[in-house]
Amino acid sequence: MANIINGKLIANQVKNNVKLEVDKLKESGIEVCLAVVLVGNDPASKVYVRNKKLACDKVGIISKEILFDENISQNELVSAIKDLNNDNKINGILVQLPLPRHLDEKEIIRSIDPVKDVDAFHPVNVGKIMIGEYDFLPCTPAGIVDLIDSTGVDICGKNCVVVGRSNIVGKPMAMLLTNRSGTVTVCHSKTNKLIEFTKKADILVAAVGVANFINADMIKPGAVVIDVGINRMQDGKLCGDVDFASAEKVAGYITPVPGGVGPMTIAKLMENTLRAAKKQNSI
Ligand code: NDP
Repeated sequence: MANIINGKLIANQVKNNVKLEVDKLKESGIEVCLAVVLVGNDPASKVYVRNKKLACDKVGIISKEILFDENISQNELVSAIKDLNNDNKINGILVQLPLPRHLDEKEIIRSIDPVKDVDAFHPVNVGKIMIGEYDFLPCTPAGIVDLIDSTGVDICGKNCVVVGRSNIVGKPMAMLLTNRSGTVTVCHSKTNKLIEFTKKADILVAAVGVANFINADMIKPGAVVIDVGINRMQDGKLCGDVDFASAEKVAGYITPVPGGVGPMTIAKLMENTLRAAKKQNSI
């Protein structure tokens, strides 16, 4: 049976460390503040925003929720983000994705000042990560690297397979694993004979968005299996991209859903917001 990677526990350790530093900054008169922009009423987005606020409360970061009607125009939203860019009390800006279809997501992300882009989605930050001179790492992949490190398995030289190539998870994940000297293969919906790749993975990251997509037959015995997927089932329960019940019999280490990657993503957001505040205050 696989060892379960306790994302909640590791995320709490990250948040405790953030809190210590946030408290120290407070003593020197610096308050750390994150602005979270939410457009519309998407229920899943509302839950994510609420969880981010709870995490801010826990580590002592001030969170400002900025809510907009789902019919807000592109210009109005860009202008609101520019106001946040110019507000020196705000250290980090996060725009909760996805945005309503009439909005140009890429332009909205580009309108965030890169020094406040705590999600690390702005092209400037993506480029910096590519050349290894980054200020922030994207929260989900950075959290996953911590989870892999927690197993004691060294990424260096391992066959790493990432299933999914989104800009938010798959591609930056591949970049971070490459930076840690993993031998990385990125698979996607056009990959032929996916199982031939996943079966060779010492470290397998599933970021597909399809419930129970990866089963035990696709996993190399003893592998580290990271399940990024968050799929809501008809009964309301959350389910990952990995069929946990069968996979845990084959994998060496595995993340549960919930309680794996999700909490780490939020912990890393706290870390990035702290980093932004320190950089903006030349600390
Ligand atoms: P996207 O939908 O943007 O990307 C999904 C990827 O999976 C695409 O690259 C797609 O390939 C690939 N894919 C789809 N079907 C197949 C298939 N049959 N075989 C192989 N590859 C396939 O999703 P995201 O990357 O944004 O998110 C993935 C999952 O992770 C979702 O469940 C999301 O909710 C969750 N998530 C969780 C986070 C967390 O904190 N835990 C954070 C962010 C996301 P192609 O490019 O060819 O279409």
